[in-house]
Amino acid sequence: MTRYSRQELFAGIGPEGQAQIRRSNVAVAGCGALGSVLAEIMVRAGVGSLTVIDRDFVEESNLQRQALFDEEDVARGLPKAIAAEARLRRINGDVSIRGVVADLSADSIDEILKGTDLVLDGTDNFETRFLINDFCVRDGIPWIYGACVGSYGLALLVRPKRSPCLRCVLEEMPPPGSGPTCDTAGVVAPIVHVIAGIQAGEALKVLAGRSQDLLPGIVTVDLWQGVFDVLDLARRAPSCPACTAGRFDSLAPVPAGGAAFLCGRDAVQVRPPHGSRIDLPSLARRLAAVGDVSANEYLVRFSSREANLVVFGDGRAIVKGVKDPAQARTVYAKYVGS
Ligand SMILES: [Zn+2]
Repeated sequence: MTRYSRQELFAGIGPEGQAQIRRSNVAVAGCGALGSVLAEIMVRAGVGSLTVIDRDFVEESNLQRQALFDEEDVARGLPKAIAAEARLRRINGDVSIRGVVADLSADSIDEILKGTDLVLDGTDNFETRFLINDFCVRDGIPWIYGACVGSYGLALLVRPKRSPCLRCVLEEMPPPGSGPTCDTAGVVAPIVHVIAGIQAGEALKVLAGRSQDLLPGIVTVDLWQGVFDVLDLARRAPSCPACTAGRFDSLAPVPAGGAAFLCGRDAVQVRPPHGSRIDLPSLARRLAAVGDVSANEYLVRFSSREANLVVFGDGRAIVKGVKDPAQARTVYAKYVGS
């Protein structure tokens, strides 16, 4: 019996399907709750390579549902992509695993997702999902949307030019604050595992070449209500800007110094110009003169009476306890530089 024998014995995959899974390059975008489960299933299933991209670091409130992390990761203040990479390597040494501490943006997505066969959505925001959708539709790469809040979740496989994309379903990006988030409604761990399980199931079908077995549309589940549904999406929308008109708005270059609210964090991320690097040890020394600093090789955390922020090696910062992006940029300029 080989490591993957139970998957090869399963008629829906078989030895040929497993051989195709072994040759595939998969990316998990966002390694929070969904991303943790997705990455673990893909690595155990024996994909050829897995890239995990995440912009955040591990905090105690993540541990209730983000299954790759533990208290030691919190104590060390590790970026999620780094903690995930280490854990996934211990699970399966046959898989080439790469953790990327970065924000997926129009500037970085081509480089980070180059050579990917399938993208799994573990993000928590529509800005990044629209970006992934436009990138994948443009380049003909399948991707699988997933989202959870409360005890409810949904999943949708997008096969460019063959099935409806996210913009066929949602032509415009929902404005921030228009729907419930983990921030306002919470989330229970079991729905995360159900939705990630559905995404991972569709992923294995795609990778094993079993397109005849794919679900026909959006899967919705509410665990508290006991509702399980598959909504058939017959065809792509004639008005879709991405897959009908070939217009990929989210891939337009981003202005430098952009800022974005982070879901569930009471925090704003400030982005420096693409390609920035920051000298973390010298920043840590400078900030230690004006407040409390703790640092590791990936980030510097700073807190004082006036400000609370975490700065990453690529120059991004997560500013906590601020009300708007302008305030976050002011804090960034004062403590990191402009
Ligand atoms: Zn579309």
